[in-house]
Amino acid sequence: MSYDCSADTKSLYMHWPFCPYRCRFCPFVAMSGHEDHMQTYHAALMCEIDFFTRTYTSDKAIKTLYLGGGTPSTWPTNMLLDMLGILKDVFIFEQGNEVTIEVNPGTVSKEQPALWRQAGITRVSVGVQSLNDGVLKTLGRYQTADDVYRLIPQLADHFVDISIDLIIGLPGVSPDEWKLQLQRIVTWPITHLSLYFLSLDPFTRLESDVRAGRCEVPAEQEVLAVYYWSIDFLQQHGFIQYEISNFARPGHESKHNQAYWERKTYKGFGLGAWSFDGTRRYQNQKSLMPYIQGIQRGEYITEVDELLTPEQVRLEKIMLGLRHMRGVSLVDVLAGCSETQQGLVQETIARLVQGNLLVSCAGRLFLTPAGLAVENAIAAELSV
Ligand code: SF4
Repeated sequence: MSYDCSADTKSLYMHWPFCPYRCRFCPFVAMSGHEDHMQTYHAALMCEIDFFTRTYTSDKAIKTLYLGGGTPSTWPTNMLLDMLGILKDVFIFEQGNEVTIEVNPGTVSKEQPALWRQAGITRVSVGVQSLNDGVLKTLGRYQTADDVYRLIPQLADHFVDISIDLIIGLPGVSPDEWKLQLQRIVTWPITHLSLYFLSLDPFTRLESDVRAGRCEVPAEQEVLAVYYWSIDFLQQHGFIQYEISNFARPGHESKHNQAYWERKTYKGFGLGAWSFDGTRRYQNQKSLMPYIQGIQRGEYITEVDELLTPEQVRLEKIMLGLRHMRGVSLVDVLAGCSETQQGLVQETIARLVQGNLLVSCAGRLFLTPAGLAVENAIAAELSV
């Protein structure tokens, strides 16, 4: 099967896989040292967009576009403008649409922010991760805190919506240092923050460093204490938590990510890009040359094509709902359950409420602060 071109699609994703270096913690579809393939990749990406738009039959109005990576700030400006021009020829970008580009400090020229803004980009997401140069080095991330200090005002001259990504639980960052860092960050002209827990993904160099004892990560309890402190601190400074890892000034929540969390349809283009047409999830080919050559030959470049079962849909709704401050509806939690299963789930809910991990209110379930730390386990318990 291929993406249902009659599915009303309001969100698009473009993947730019090139990075100036490979971070030691990175599990993403990204590569460094392949700059000579940028032009050919860009051409393949344009072909993929062209194939899709020639068969897409639904409404052409688009609400969100996300340029992710990789490091999209290394997308040569002429090619980036070419891609945006092609999209605008085919789709209608609705009033108030959100067009985000991910950028990494140290990869943005003086001219790029103004050009991006003129081209219709409305939001910039900056991969800060840490302001400690030694820690950045441990992560294999060749940027410095000074790069960030230079970049933020440069972006603020052109953008209202600036988001930054930070990683919580990094090796070598004490709770005091984290707090000082956040105290500095809330004074910046930004509207959104994403705080991601460090994830030690298999086959990453950082995971092997930690396994071999070459690098030590903070204890879980310490990381959680820092996370709870951050929630309160950010709230006091006007950043409201709206998802487990995401905080925004009111009205500046990420519209694109909301579409993912609400399980709306979206179409992804490029290497390893995911799409969802309402019933199936797809992932494009993840290897560069097979992707490019497949497109050139006009072949189907989908590597994963999965029809979601009712159980998977239910689990997704529970997990995504619990992560979000809107919670999950009891109707979704009980969907498809037999009477006996419903009784068991209700007992589980009562136990979790009693244990101060869940709150049940007006037909919805919400995680408590204690529940936020064990969200995966709670989702698994509710989805039996
Ligand atoms: S910049 Fe991002 S995508 Fe690129 S290697 Fe680092 S973590 Fe991975």
